[in-house]
Amino acid sequence: MSTFSLCVYCGSKVGHQPGYEAAARHVGTLIGERGWQLVYGGGNAGLMGAVANAVLAAGGRVVGVIPKSLMDREHGHTGLHELHVVDTMHQRKQMMAERADAFLALPGGIGTFEELFEVWTWRQLGYHDKPVGLLNVEGYYDQLLAFLDQSVAQGFVPAAQRPLLQSSADAVDLLERLARDAKMATAPDDYRKI
Ligand code: AMP
Repeated sequence: MSTFSLCVYCGSKVGHQPGYEAAARHVGTLIGERGWQLVYGGGNAGLMGAVANAVLAAGGRVVGVIPKSLMDREHGHTGLHELHVVDTMHQRKQMMAERADAFLALPGGIGTFEELFEVWTWRQLGYHDKPVGLLNVEGYYDQLLAFLDQSVAQGFVPAAQRPLLQSSADAVDLLERLARDAKMATAPDDYRKI
């Protein structure tokens, strides 16, 4: 595998706890220090901006993908190695997925949830076999994780799918697991089925 490329989904806002932005900066620093590449939504606001700027400060490579309609609203980042301005949200999400070896969600809102669940469902359907992680910063996702376990217990989420969403409160531990599992991912992507 060439440079490990991690797609990070996270809030376009910073949230109300300082720990959220600190965690985004920490993840960005870890990516940059390891010489990895960040793929993300291309904005320079919220946790998205925090993670991207930390990767850049630590010497890493950053690829952003943003729909042209969101260039103003999400403050399209002009200091990246690559900024792809695409026509639609679907093109954005597909390009981000194609350019990534693994996916990681940090705290965020509806956009983050949608992106996380989309790549997890794509994994369930066999469109890719890349690892998917959730960084549970300061317990932000505790209730979501409990609900997912409830969904398994109630027979709606197959038990085999639940471990495919890896979660941890520890960024170093989670990034290492994602990088290790990405090396084992061998199936070719097939996003044509989307
Ligand atoms: P949020 O977590 O709501 O702050 O959004 C984080 C990112 O997800 C933003 O860059 C949104 O543009 C993006 N996003 C991706 N898909 C969607 C969607 N279907 N609806 C809203 N935002 C989305």
